[in-house]
Amino acid sequence: KLLLEVKDLSAVIAESKQPILKGVNLTVHEGEVHAVMGKNGSGKSTFAKVLVGHPDYEITGGSITYKGQDLLEMEPEERALAGLFMSFQSPVEIPGVSNIDFLNMAYNARRRKLGLPELGPIEFYGYVAPKLEIVNMKIDFLNRNVNEGFSGGERKRNEILQLAVLGAELSILDEIDSGLDVDALRDVAKAVNGLLTPNNSVLMITHYLRLLEFIKPTYIHIMENGRIVKTGDISIAEILEREGYKAISNT
Ligand code: ADP
Ligand code: MG
Ligand code: MG
Repeated sequence: KLLLEVKDLSAVIAESKQPILKGVNLTVHEGEVHAVMGKNGSGKSTFAKVLVGHPDYEITGGSITYKGQDLLEMEPEERALAGLFMSFQSPVEIPGVSNIDFLNMAYNARRRKLGLPELGPIEFYGYVAPKLEIVNMKIDFLNRNVNEGFSGGERKRNEILQLAVLGAELSILDEIDSGLDVDALRDVAKAVNGLLTPNNSVLMITHYLRLLEFIKPTYIHIMENGRIVKTGDISIAEILEREGYKAISNT
């Protein structure tokens, strides 16, 4: 079943009107894992941010349909409530808010949207505690402030915990492998794999074949100068790793 359809999407930086995305096409079905690769500056993060409705960018053409709805007509909060989740390349700190309160708030917002009763702190604790195992974190992790003083690996694990709690239908993971040692990477990948069901999908941005060996993509896309210029299977990433972008570049 079709989940996301991006057609000829163009976007500029809101402030300078500099074009970044120049006609992106991408189709994601339920249960698929899509990897987007490409040189630094090719527009990968911009694409991810445009999907979640980041205010730094302005759409100048094309369309995005998500679960049959016009995504571009939805506010960022509505997108999140509709099951679109993004992990950021540099997640923000939220001083003074404990991790568990933050997660509880976000989860209740989603439950309200689904017409379900909210969970109080005790019920929520029961719901979230078993999920810590998925990301290999100790229980005291929940009482720390959101991202405050987290190591790189802890931040990534926390992002995946958020994902596990909120249960996204489309998870957008921007360089979740950056700055992780191989053990942390394995944990994070295992957690992502554990969340994959036939109904939800992942769009992950990465520079490295290494991540794709842990999270097997259905398709790999190469982004170049604001467009997806090539789509294929894992062999694209292998060529890339061996020969660099020049081997698959169109220019
Ligand atoms: P990638 O994630 O593929 O490395 P980005 O999408 O982050 O690429 O950036 C694409 C290009 O757009 C880069 O040249 C980057 O400097 C520029 N860019 C993206 N967002 C902004 C912004 N908010 N302000 C200024 N330049 C930006
Ligand atoms: Mg980059
Ligand atoms: Mg980027």
